[in-house]
Amino acid sequence: MAQSLERMLRDGRTYLRILYLLLAFPLGTTYFILLVTLVSVGVSTAVIGVGLILLALSVFAWMLMARLERELAINLLGAHVPPIAIPGESLGPWQRLLKLLGDASTWKALVYVMLEFPFGILSFVLTVTLLPVSLALTAVPFAYVGAVLSGSPNIQLGTRGFTLFPNSPPFGAEFLAALLVGVLGVGLFLASIALLNGIGWAWGRFAELMLGIDPSRLQLAAAEAEASAQRSRAERADQSRRELIVNASHELRTPIASISAHVESLQKPERQIDPESRQYLGVIDTETRRLSSLVDDLLVLARADADELRITVRPVNVAEVVERVSTAMAPLARQERNLTLVHRNAADLPAAMADPDRLEQVLANLVRNAVNHTPDGGIVTLTTQADPDGVIITVADTGIGIEAQDLPRIFERFYRADQSRARDNGGSGLGLAIVRELLTAMGGTISAESTPGQGSTFTIRLKKAA
Ligand code: ADP
Repeated sequence: MAQSLERMLRDGRTYLRILYLLLAFPLGTTYFILLVTLVSVGVSTAVIGVGLILLALSVFAWMLMARLERELAINLLGAHVPPIAIPGESLGPWQRLLKLLGDASTWKALVYVMLEFPFGILSFVLTVTLLPVSLALTAVPFAYVGAVLSGSPNIQLGTRGFTLFPNSPPFGAEFLAALLVGVLGVGLFLASIALLNGIGWAWGRFAELMLGIDPSRLQLAAAEAEASAQRSRAERADQSRRELIVNASHELRTPIASISAHVESLQKPERQIDPESRQYLGVIDTETRRLSSLVDDLLVLARADADELRITVRPVNVAEVVERVSTAMAPLARQERNLTLVHRNAADLPAAMADPDRLEQVLANLVRNAVNHTPDGGIVTLTTQADPDGVIITVADTGIGIEAQDLPRIFERFYRADQSRARDNGGSGLGLAIVRELLTAMGGTISAESTPGQGSTFTIRLKKAA
């Protein structure tokens, strides 16, 4: 008991709480007068519009008061009050007002601010009566002794008194009474400090309850902030990965082109080179081309990821593009695999939205795949037909087909259905991924169907030109 009393008296917080109890009166009164004035003027002038602004202002005003109260509750009362608003949230004034009105913590803050008025009066009255009265009582014996020593004629000394020190007048029952009052005063003083400290503590707990947003919402906001920080970190990492690919691809192009040029000049027929070296040169040539096309593919994909594909979509006569691809690829199909490449264009084909060069690249890629996966003597067919939404182009072959488990994955990057065979063909597994990126950028789609052993059909859909 004595220890906790001593601790309370030594603790600076006790006096800060009493300071708050004194401040609560002027603050509470100011809040009350300000809010009541704002709201009543606001309500009475609401019809002319100004009032609505005043009412809105009153909401911001009481939230400002709540912020001040939170600081005081933390610093003076030692309360742990959560923040009034979610940190880092930036909203316009109108959005903020709507959010505040829909938030329970706003109304709780209003109740707190308004209750501060009666609480302030009560705490002020208690503080300014209890402390001075108890201090005055404590001072009584000192005043008595002072009066005796100064020989005040009004003081009647006791007859059966005793002396405190030599030559002093004797102190009697009156002095004892004065001493008792003094002791009572000290007791009252200590009790008052304990009571006021307790009231301050309780009001601090009340502030914790009424002020600040719900801790679970705070946790949610913190989790959201963490998630968004992680997202932006991931985006930054993604961005630098793309930049690395783009830069590396650019840098690789020059040496690859240089190797190609030198190999080409070494391969010239007029050069005296033994057959074995010529064969090696052929391998270098093939591999360099492969490397070059891989670098090009990576560049296209990195650009697609960064939404930087250089694509100009405009109304295109698809039949012409199909014709061009067919004419360019037919000799190759015949030479390489003895395949027949045919095309069938619908008569009433509308113009479709596409980038003609990129569409040509897409179709050439699909035809090349078809050629690579169709045994000798097969047929590759390019067809166009009109559709209510636009134009459909199909590239069908009579080749080996694609297994059902591979079919959903062939448009993924680096996916090769039959690893060993695909490598023989020099494929990197990026072709179809690029095809899909290019078509998506044109607003089109691609899908694939296949029956293993019978062939595959790739279907492209392009939007009709407006
Ligand atoms: P690649 O560079 O290996 O050809 P693609 O992305 O163009 O990569 O194709 C992915 C995989 O899809 C290929 O490895 C191949 O197994 C399969 N594929 C693509 N087109 C055909 C086709 N017409 N017939 C059979 N399989 C095909």
